[in-house]
Amino acid sequence: MTAPEHVLRDDYRRGADWVAHCRCGFTTVRRDRPSCVAMLYKHTIDAARDTSCPTPHKKGHGTAEEAEAALGRFLRRQRPGARPTRIYLCQCRKWHTTKSPARPDHGVAA
Ligand SMILES: [Zn+2]
Ligand SMILES: [Zn+2]
Repeated sequence: MTAPEHVLRDDYRRGADWVAHCRCGFTTVRRDRPSCVAMLYKHTIDAARDTSCPTPHKKGHGTAEEAEAALGRFLRRQRPGARPTRIYLCQCRKWHTTKSPARPDHGVAA
């Protein structure tokens, strides 16, 4: 991973404003130092939150509805045992389908 670290690099006065920089290059400008630094810290928290997808090979759906629709298509198309059974919201903020059951099954009458 070569993602830049999100850390307050420096802050200084520039004319009437305060300027703060993140290591990634993000900059905040405010009239007073506390809110300038606060804005910068807010950025570091937001940016550092891990939103990378642990399953990038899976197709991501923007909404639960889209994922449900994809699930429906799978159920019609795939062989039993190889098909996804539910959807979940990933940390990448997209919806995926999965074969893993949400909870153990109590035997299926077949
Ligand atoms: Zn940053
Ligand atoms: Zn994901």
